[in-house]
Amino acid sequence: MKRNLCWIRRDLRLHDHHALSMALKNAEETFLVFIFDTNILDKLSDKNDKRITLIMDALLEMEKTLNEHGSSLIVKYGDPKIEIPALARELQVDAVFFNRDYEPYAKERDAHVEKKLRALGIDVHQFKDHVFYEKNEVLTGQREIYKVFTPYKNKWLEHFRAQDSIVPEYKCPLKKLAPFKNQHSLLQKDWFKETGFNKTEVLITGGTTPARSRLKNFSKSINRYKEARDIPSLNMTSLLSPYIRFGNISIRDMIRTAVQSNDEGSLTWLSEIIWRDFYQVILDVYPKVENHCFKTEYDRIKWTGKKEHFQLWCEGQTGFPIVDAAMRCLNETGFMHNRLRMVVASFLTKTLLIDWRFGERYFAEKLLDYDMAANNGGWQWSASTGVDAQPYFRIFNPWNQSEKFDEEGKFIREWCPELKEFSNKKIHYPHETDMVEQAQAKCVIGKNYPFPIVSYKVQKEKALAMFKAIS
Ligand SMILES: Cc1cc2nc3c(=O)[nH]c(=O)nc-3n(C[C@H](O)[C@H](O)[C@H](O)COP(=O)(O)OP(=O)(O)OC[C@H]3O[C@@H](n4cnc5c(N)ncnc54)[C@H](O)[C@@H]3O)c2cc1C
Repeated sequence: MKRNLCWIRRDLRLHDHHALSMALKNAEETFLVFIFDTNILDKLSDKNDKRITLIMDALLEMEKTLNEHGSSLIVKYGDPKIEIPALARELQVDAVFFNRDYEPYAKERDAHVEKKLRALGIDVHQFKDHVFYEKNEVLTGQREIYKVFTPYKNKWLEHFRAQDSIVPEYKCPLKKLAPFKNQHSLLQKDWFKETGFNKTEVLITGGTTPARSRLKNFSKSINRYKEARDIPSLNMTSLLSPYIRFGNISIRDMIRTAVQSNDEGSLTWLSEIIWRDFYQVILDVYPKVENHCFKTEYDRIKWTGKKEHFQLWCEGQTGFPIVDAAMRCLNETGFMHNRLRMVVASFLTKTLLIDWRFGERYFAEKLLDYDMAANNGGWQWSASTGVDAQPYFRIFNPWNQSEKFDEEGKFIREWCPELKEFSNKKIHYPHETDMVEQAQAKCVIGKNYPFPIVSYKVQKEKALAMFKAIS
């Protein structure tokens, strides 16, 4: 009898799962394992990290479904380089199946695990699942990867249409799962206690059921995405990023929704999904971007920003209301709207003159949807150091961004309540109000809310000089 082990990692679901589908197809019995990877968890300093709760939600949901099929989820806590080969041997499986992950640590880990398994005579099968197209699939005429997004996107779409826009679905008939293994059951143990993390309040519930319902809801307003996606207070983006990050739905689930209608909203949304593929390819092919500028010369920039300004940026106390509202929202919820990510990233790098790597790391600690490829891509785009980044002389004016994308100050009022009594106009510039206006708004600038910590105009000139010194 043939037995397989499917190792799930950032693909916490039981449907449309490439590796699971192939494992089930090729054996009479398939076991499923998830490992709380201590190499990753040990680096998380916050024991209330919300992402652990999201992972746990998803695992419990999966375990319930598996139990209903007379099977169970094996959950372990440790180093996968040791745990996977040991488990594969204990269960006497013929092969281990998993989906590819393109982050540098994951690639190194997976290569190590594969080597060990092969030495034990156990086969290893890896699959594309996390992206729609991998690095070798969308290439220039010279068979090189694209370093500019628009031609990449056009080629991506050309490929997609050439396959009749068919989105494959990897069926997972759960009846071929291995029988229940009581000693490994997640529900039998207090995994929060074992891992040292606490269950926390999170804005959303993890798992496939809430992910599907969000996708369904979003599909009803997808036609308005193009016009509404830049206004944070409207909440008109899908908010699916934490779900796709943990693989509670598949990228194919999202693309299926995007191609159901042919309106501008759906096409714009599909374009964002293509950005996701683009950055995954960049990280896969250029792993150095994890710590270095994609444009190597910019590693020589002398960032002159101040440590205390970084702290105020983190806390949402810069005196720039739109920046502060966005950072407070991130700190509280673990989410930030895309427009605001661009605003605060541009502000940190080109107004406070602080190295993008500090901001990137802060986001990595806080974002529910933290994904190295997208986060690194977004930060390096904003800092002008990345692949197909905005040119260095394009510097977001935080005052204009505020007025343009939060015209009535709705978002600012939500996250900076001390400013809520100012008029729609003045809420963007509270430091320009006089004492009477401040008394009326019950907010004294310098006491209840800070003065701007820097002058945007002065800093802009310094930023230009900083980049020019390299160019
Ligand atoms: C500085 C900065 C940091 C970022 N960090 C991350 C991150 O850690 N994780 C992350 O998933 N996204 C990141 N993004 C991209 C983007 O902001 C989020 O994907 C988006 O805000 C998530 O909200 P949504 O699901 O409602 O997106 P929607 O607008 O509904 O987009 C649908 C999906 O497309 C993908 N997507 C959208 N925009 C981008 C983009 N610019 N790059 C790559 N993928 C995209 C996401 O998977 C998203 O869920 C970052 C952007 C910037 C500027």
